[in-house]
Amino acid sequence: MERVVVEMPRTPRRRAEGQQRRADQKRYLRSLAGKKGAARPKNAAERRARVQRILAILDERYPNVTCALHHSNAWELLVATILSAQCTDERVNKVTPGLFAKYPTIEDFANVSQAELAKDIHSTGFFNNKAKSVIGAAKKILGEFGGEIPREIDKLLTVPGAARKTANVVLGTAFGIASGVVVDTHVSRISQRLDLTKNADPVKIERDLIQAVPQERWISFSHQMIHFGRGICVARSPKCVECPMTALCYSEDRTA
Ligand code: SF4
Repeated sequence: MERVVVEMPRTPRRRAEGQQRRADQKRYLRSLAGKKGAARPKNAAERRARVQRILAILDERYPNVTCALHHSNAWELLVATILSAQCTDERVNKVTPGLFAKYPTIEDFANVSQAELAKDIHSTGFFNNKAKSVIGAAKKILGEFGGEIPREIDKLLTVPGAARKTANVVLGTAFGIASGVVVDTHVSRISQRLDLTKNADPVKIERDLIQAVPQERWISFSHQMIHFGRGICVARSPKCVECPMTALCYSEDRTA
């Protein structure tokens, strides 16, 4: 997933193309100023300028956001993320303090029965599947990774309960490793509304976002989009009157 950037010598033609691209971007951004209904970008330069503007707005609005799941190490974050499937972060944050007090080590999770753990996490929903995943994850991490959460996405994806979204959350938040873009329900919905993807499948959405968003922004972009989706660009009746993206948004879901 690492990007390899090959520096090419700047020929006069490449310089001219670069100047043209920057002029197109500036013209596009000027055309947005003060507008409510946004024009669609017409070419690659305008698309890039639009994405840069979206990222700048997210930075202005959500400068220091991070993962809302409480945790004190990578293992706890992995467990909390598994529990957060089909459940709110608030609910998970109510369950995890007692859970981590009862099972302070990975070994404790590996040794508990599925029925017992399912009872402990009952209020997060899908408790049997989640208990099976957490116990399986603990056994895998102890048996194959020496008790350490793997820092390579390919290895982390072999851990029970760690699909791409979970793996990206853990690597990005616990280790600061930009392995991909976390695509949850908020990121999916807003990416579609802002025309950053035309796909509905999370794996394809992530592929589109990886292309559109610079790698150094993958981690913060996901957190910012999740906050934006919880507060403004909500699923039903998005709060477009409060939205800082109106000049960039031509979604059919717009309410203002
Ligand atoms: S809140 Fe409205 S204007 Fe803002 S991104 Fe969502 S749909 Fe577009």
